[in-house]
This record gives sequence, structure tokens and C-alpha cells, in this order.
Amino acid sequence: ATPTAVTVGIGRGAELGVLVRNGEALEVSKNLTTVVFDKTGTLTRGKPDVTDIVAFGMPEDRLLAVAAAVERNSQHPLAVAVVRRAESAGVTVPASERFNTFGGRGVSAVVDGEVVLIGNQPFLLERGIAVPPKAEMRVTAFQDVGKTAVLVAAGGELAGILAIADTLKPTTRTAIADLKRMGLTVTMITGDNPRTANAIAREVGIENVHAGVLPQEKAQEVRALQERREVVAFVGDGINDAPALAQADVGIAIGSGTDVAIESGDIVLIRDDLTDAVAAIQLSRKVMSRIK
Ligand code: ADP
Ligand code: MG
Repeated sequence: ATPTAVTVGIGRGAELGVLVRNGEALEVSKNLTTVVFDKTGTLTRGKPDVTDIVAFGMPEDRLLAVAAAVERNSQHPLAVAVVRRAESAGVTVPASERFNTFGGRGVSAVVDGEVVLIGNQPFLLERGIAVPPKAEMRVTAFQDVGKTAVLVAAGGELAGILAIADTLKPTTRTAIADLKRMGLTVTMITGDNPRTANAIAREVGIENVHAGVLPQEKAQEVRALQERREVVAFVGDGINDAPALAQADVGIAIGSGTDVAIESGDIVLIRDDLTDAVAAIQLSRKVMSRIK
């Protein structure tokens, strides 16, 4: 394409609420084969709520208090949900020390002299916490309806489960349908577990899911697609997503996302609306093919 085409594209993009930071991205966009979406904060709002509390051998309020004591130290959306729930329940949150975070798995701290672990099932299992079949059934049931089950262990034993649910953004489903109609392969990538990820994917109409992906592995997944000669757009919002946004042929960042993500994007969506990502791809196809 001529430089004029890119200039026209950038101008039209601006009118559509699509900020083109890298003009080359428009040229690449017309050859796209695959669009990869981050789940949390991209397909979903990223502002989850605690929906269910299952306590084992302690009152629900105690479970919530202990969990909030640890999660108070974390910025993760799941942590924010737990702390918010503790606040609204009016529980007194004890102090914590020796906080630790295990990227993509969970967190830990010492509360009232006991080691408290909070995270997904693999995280608890690798720390030697037994998850009895009855608890595992609860976890599975939550995941099958698209909730993230956060397990809490205290003093070496499973203390409870907090089910946390995020809601889809209003236009997510429409955007996915549009992209598929345009002949593109749509894929979801997430650090969340496969069951929860698949439940959400079904809801939005995505058939390809890569779940349980550690933060540092997202870019590798994009590279693997490129090695299979796919031309890849990655859409994401988080700090975790920055390397994948940079690796993708076209990085599309959500404007309300983290600064690191925005700086790594070729294209930034001003509004928090995935149909604008569709508009950006349609725009590049139109402008780049017409003006040559
Ligand atoms: P996502 O791709 O959804 O942003 P992350 O890679 O941040 O996911 O985390 C993956 C999983 O690790 C979460 O679904 C959760 O099970 C667990 N996890 C991470 N951080 C926390 C936390 N602060 N509290 C509880 N669980 C956590
Ligand atoms: Mg995200």
C-alpha cells in the first residue's frame, strides 16, 4: 500500500475510535487469518464478583476474613473481588505477613500464625493440600457455569472455596460473530482453568481455547500460531498481555487497559468495545485494497 493509504486509514480509524499507533499494522491487518483474545478484561469486563462461599470447618465470615487478609496485598481482579466482598459483609480483616505471589496460580501469606494459600487447584495440590472429592465436585460445578473457583487453605488444610464470576461485555458476542463471518479463526487464551474458559468460550461462540496459560507463555502461543503461517492479531488489556501484543502481527490493546498493554499495541481501541476491533480490521481491508 502507498503511504497515502495508511494515512487515510489512520484518519478513518480516528473517526471510528480506533487509534492507529503503527501504520504498518493496517497493512498487515488485511492479511489476518486469526484473532486471539485474552479472556479477563478483554472478552469479559474484568470486574468479577464473589458469588458463592463454601466454608469447610469454619464460619463463612471467618473464611472471607482470612482470604481477604491475604488478597488485600494483591492487585489481581480476583483479589479485588474477595476484598470487596469482605468489606460488604462487614467482617474484620486480620493482619497478614510474608505475602507472596505466584504468577498465574495464586498467593500466600501468614495470617494469625497460619500459612494461608489461595489460588487454583493445581497450586494447592503442588503445595500438598488435599482436595477431597466432595470439594472437587463443587469446584467443577462452579467452573462448568463459567465461574472461577478460588481455593483457600489454612494451616495445611482446605478451608473453603470462593466462586467468582465475571460478566461478558455487552458487545463481545456480536464482535466474535462478525469476525467469524469475515472468515477469521477466533481463539481465546487465558490463565484461567480449562473448564471455566470453555464455559465462557461457549457463551461467546469461540471454539478454540488455550487455557491454563502462564502469563509469560501467552507470547509463545502467538509465536506458535505464526509458525503455522497464521497472521495473528492479539487483543488484550493486561500487563500479562504486553509481550503477546508485541509478538502478534497486529497488537490491539483495549484503551481502558493497563498502560503497558497500550504501549505494546499497534492499534488502541478508545472505547471499551470489541466491535471497534472488528471495525479496525474491516477498515484496513477496505482502505488497503482500494488504494494501491
Ligand atoms: P487471567 O489470564 O485470567 O488474567 P492469571 O494468569 O492472572 O489469569 O491467573 C490465572 C489463575 O491463577 C487464576 O484464574 C486463579 O485461579 C489464579 N490466581 C492468580 N492470582 C490469584 C489471586 N490473587 N488470588 C486467587 N487466585 C489467583
Ligand atoms: Mg486480561
